[in-house]
Amino acid sequence: MAKKQKRKQPSQKTQNAALRTTCWFCDHDVTPDYKDPKTLGYFLTPRGRVLPRHITSVCASCQRGLAVQIKRARQLALIR
Ligand SMILES: [Zn+2]
Repeated sequence: MAKKQKRKQPSQKTQNAALRTTCWFCDHDVTPDYKDPKTLGYFLTPRGRVLPRHITSVCASCQRGLAVQIKRARQLALIR
């Protein structure tokens, strides 16, 4: 009986705009904004935690700003 080979399926993360090699915010010349919960959602886990930089490839300064803006959006109940 042939052994079933497990093939890697593209996870939700790879389809996500967050998985890239350069900083998304610097590329698009925008800064993280709490009034844009849809964009902030790309940098969160399904449970609502902030994804680390080594996964999202966001630069250090943008990551710092992103964390602040995510916390602001949480306070206003725009994201979980
Ligand atoms: Zn950046």
